[in-house]
Amino acid sequence: MRQLTLAALLLAAPASAAVPVSAVNTQADAVEAKVIDWRRDIHQHPELGNREVRTAALVAKHLRALGYEVREKVGVTGVVGILKGGKPGGVVALRADMDALPVKEATGLPFASQATGTYNGATVPVAHACGHDAHVAMLMGAAEVLAKLKADIPGTVVLVFQPAEEGPPAGEAGGASLMLKEGVFNAPKPQAIFGLHVWPGVAGSLSWRPGAMMAEADTVHITLKGVQTHGAVPWRGTDLIGQVATTVHEVNRLVTRTIDPTQTPTILTMSAINAGLRHNIIPDKAEIFGTMRSFDLARRDQLKEQLEKMVKGIAAVYGTEATVDISSAGALTYNEPALATWLSGPLAEATGSVDQIHPDAPPVTVSEDVSLFMNKVGGVYYFLGISPDGVAAGETPPNHSPFFTVNEKALKTGVKAHVLSAIRFLEQQPKRERPAS
Ligand SMILES: [Zn+2]
Ligand SMILES: [Zn+2]
Repeated sequence: MRQLTLAALLLAAPASAAVPVSAVNTQADAVEAKVIDWRRDIHQHPELGNREVRTAALVAKHLRALGYEVREKVGVTGVVGILKGGKPGGVVALRADMDALPVKEATGLPFASQATGTYNGATVPVAHACGHDAHVAMLMGAAEVLAKLKADIPGTVVLVFQPAEEGPPAGEAGGASLMLKEGVFNAPKPQAIFGLHVWPGVAGSLSWRPGAMMAEADTVHITLKGVQTHGAVPWRGTDLIGQVATTVHEVNRLVTRTIDPTQTPTILTMSAINAGLRHNIIPDKAEIFGTMRSFDLARRDQLKEQLEKMVKGIAAVYGTEATVDISSAGALTYNEPALATWLSGPLAEATGSVDQIHPDAPPVTVSEDVSLFMNKVGGVYYFLGISPDGVAAGETPPNHSPFFTVNEKALKTGVKAHVLSAIRFLEQQPKRERPAS
């Protein structure tokens, strides 16, 4: 009886057999040259947020040719591709962002950007200084590999090509929040989403961490109102300029004096001041702008309260009025812990070596709007190392630098990481936890 059951299991095995990693490797080898070509083409033709028209058309055409169901203009220029595998199963999503930045490229690459665009009404140079060109190319490569392996995939893969990750132009909606509003996950709804960002590190290495991975970003806007007076008779008005200096000085002390640095990294930076016009007029209005970065949302809420209390306390001393607006500019990127642990398997397969994966990397203080997708369905976001050969991560020009570039050797690993995270998720249906929010 026992043997019969075993025989039945063995007979059933081919239907549920995993896609061999060798098949993924073969297809990734076959697509590598195309991925490099796409990346260079997109790099040479960068487009700012919500203006990714050429890039989106390239993606949609490629997905259609591969037999994907394609939805366009989801969140202005977003493209969604849906691939139904040959076997029944769940749904998983993969994400790439498409937008470039108002940066003048200084890499000296033969395919460096010469492009310009319009940003806040001004003509600006435009470049892929955050590597989203590589993101699009790798997910296009993954689309092709997945299409080739389609017959053996148990479930559905949703590819999300997202516009405006760096933020939409002033006065426009965009990015992950708009794609969600416009139903990117409505049908089919993914059970989880995975994605990657190119980042300084050994080319082709993959790093991530469970839990809080990229910061919650909050924008701080302080407005101070007093009584204007001549600089020669300060006692006839309020000393708003002195108050600005005191406020910046005290706010800068707040984090170091109130947060346990061994518990949670926190940044509070005052970055801009608008106040005054002339040497002999003390103005009646001043504004201070800043940014907060946190990894612990409860602690962030406390810090917001402390900041407001401090600013208003100082205003009371100076006899002025203060308002403090703190608004979220990017949600915490939270890797669902159980999934983050599980992902070591597929990502070790993608790199071909456990030495090339780092599942306990430190968090980073930048923020990413992939967090909004992850908050909806849970998932994991990870970094793909792209440093030039022989250049340490700390010596590599960072993302957003005019010298930022991507080591193309890493692209094939990125393709495999996308493909294996999706296929193994569908095959193995790993145990889940509740995501952060
Ligand atoms: Zn960026
Ligand atoms: Zn980016």
